Amino acid sequence: MNTAKRKTVIAGNWKMNKTPSQTAEFIKQLVPAAADAACEVVVAVPFVCLPAAVQAVKGSAIKVAAQNVHFEDQGAYTGEVSADMLLDLGVEYVIIGHSERRQYFAETDQTVNKKVLKALQKGLRPIICVGESLEQREAGVTEEFVAMQTKEALLGVPAADIDKVIIAYEPIWAIGTGRTATADQADEVNGLIRRTVAGLYGEAAAEAMTVQYGGSMNAKNAAELLGKDNVDGGLIGGASLKADDFRVIIEAARQ
Ligand code: PEP
Repeated sequence: MNTAKRKTVIAGNWKMNKTPSQTAEFIKQLVPAAADAACEVVVAVPFVCLPAAVQAVKGSAIKVAAQNVHFEDQGAYTGEVSADMLLDLGVEYVIIGHSERRQYFAETDQTVNKKVLKALQKGLRPIICVGESLEQREAGVTEEFVAMQTKEALLGVPAADIDKVIIAYEPIWAIGTGRTATADQADEVNGLIRRTVAGLYGEAAAEAMTVQYGGSMNAKNAAELLGKDNVDGGLIGGASLKADDFRVIIEAARQ
């Protein structure tokens, strides 16, 4: 982390876990750790848990994220949720393009880009997920692939909005597998993402951008990963569901 230059953001991605009442209870346990934190603490909860989360974080330092958003303003899109609906609740962040959404719900670089543009236009801060598969890593195309995903996600994003964007490098082979990228691997690809952003928006914008790592980050490996210059926080799945582990990760961001 380079805390002199940019904000560290520790975000928990709960995926399809916890009910609204469990949400309120869990956030209560996190409030003291967040009050004392050297980083921004975000919880990305299921849609139905958002009202409970927004209520539970009131008066605290914790921010709430959705895990998806639709790119249209409104209309005949059964089962979808708009940016205005999220904003009306008090949601500030939204995860866009998580690999599970790409894999199971047919999200593409094009729909990810449309969602990013809509989120920014409405005033939500996108956490954009990029990352290669194991096959791509083994084929040696990680750099090209992640750079391309980054460019496609940011297509048409105005320079004035780039400071609202967070990018999370999430190698697919490390998500939910217990197999973490080494701190050097995370640093290397996060650095590549930063250089890609620099090519599009200039050095200053890239240096100021929060680039997270995600993929089996946990209480044991967080300090080492977060110790790297280009790793400005984490997007954390499994370990964000356990208050004790998530608190340790928040604390690891103090370095
Ligand atoms: C994620 O869902 O974004 C993630 C990184 O999951 P996990 O920490 O469980 O690998």
